[in-house]
Amino acid sequence: MRISENILISSLTTMRLGGPAKYVIEIEQPAEIPEAYNFAAQQNLPVFILGYGANVIGHDDGFNGVILINRMRGIEIVTGGQIKIMGGEYWDDVVSYTCERGLTGIEALSKIPGYAAAAPVQNIGAYGQDISQTFVSADVYDSAAGTFKTLGRQDLNFSYRKSALNTTAKGRFFVISITLALKHGQMPRPFYNSIERHIEEHAITDFSPQSIRTIVSAIRAAKLPDPREKASAGSFFKNIYLTAAEADFAESKGYPVHRGQDGNKINSGWLIEQAGFKGALLHGIRVSPTAALVLINESATSYADLAAARSEIVTKVYDKFGYWLEQEPVEITNK
Ligand SMILES: Cc1cc2nc3c(=O)[nH]c(=O)nc-3n(C[C@H](O)[C@H](O)[C@H](O)COP(=O)(O)OP(=O)(O)OC[C@H]3O[C@@H](n4cnc5c(N)ncnc54)[C@H](O)[C@@H]3O)c2cc1C
Repeated sequence: MRISENILISSLTTMRLGGPAKYVIEIEQPAEIPEAYNFAAQQNLPVFILGYGANVIGHDDGFNGVILINRMRGIEIVTGGQIKIMGGEYWDDVVSYTCERGLTGIEALSKIPGYAAAAPVQNIGAYGQDISQTFVSADVYDSAAGTFKTLGRQDLNFSYRKSALNTTAKGRFFVISITLALKHGQMPRPFYNSIERHIEEHAITDFSPQSIRTIVSAIRAAKLPDPREKASAGSFFKNIYLTAAEADFAESKGYPVHRGQDGNKINSGWLIEQAGFKGALLHGIRVSPTAALVLINESATSYADLAAARSEIVTKVYDKFGYWLEQEPVEITNK
């Protein structure tokens, strides 16, 4: 295991904010995980598990604790169509690997930045797929019990941008690897609206995993920032999910409600756009001109800048529509 001291969280996260972390430990094999927790416990320091940092925001005063990062790599096709992925694999490399082999199940999750270990944490989703649909199990280290175990789908209790890993058991399990069940074949139709539109516009007739990956990559490239070029944490707010009665009420007010298999939702990007923020620059934070749900750190230098921008957006959306926007990225804090 590799231990580094005083590493800026801004250098470890795609939003590029945050002061120094006291220690960062990069885990290269499972046996090092309990050692790393012992290292933190001996100094009475808290632990935060970090991946690629695409969904994490740092604070200016950094983190007086130990950040653990999974650096274990490897992808293995297990019998019966299951694929085991070490948590330190870059997620999009995994999607590329499976699409090349004609496997369906995660092709619509192309180009989501991050490591495989984080994929089940917020049940990553895009364009009609989410990881819960193919998730079989995760090998984890249980820091509360001090043991290694395997968690199945039922243990993770997946829902929209949620699992036990970011709710009831938040921070407790260090994900070592995940196992997914993929099949040879294609995604069922109808595809997500924007995929269908793209297919029609470009007269595409190939719906293989590789082709859907190409389509999703093109759609994303046209509207989402590449975190290597522009600092962002992707969608900064979650969409608003509504009960049937709430959805009827929203429609009576003229708000566009999407009724899908995963429930009724209002796209929070639409609310932000209607509130007049699309493309706006607030305290160094740009509301993306192509996807209003995405905040880009153009010139913010502190967490306070982000908090001020967030507050303006959340307050105005609430005043105009009566919905509180909920932040998607998690924060590393000393509190
Ligand atoms: C441009 C952009 C586009 C995005 N698009 C999407 C999208 O379409 N759909 C979507 O769902 N998300 C999207 N995201 C969010 C992000 O890509 C995902 O949440 C991704 O899974 C984060 O992976 P990560 O490795 O960066 O995790 P991090 O951001 O480092 O961590 C995320 C969470 O996972 C936990 N975690 C990380 N590693 C482990 C581990 N080994 N064990 C236990 N817990 C761990 C962390 O503690 C934290 O709670 C986007 C982000 C960006 C910047």
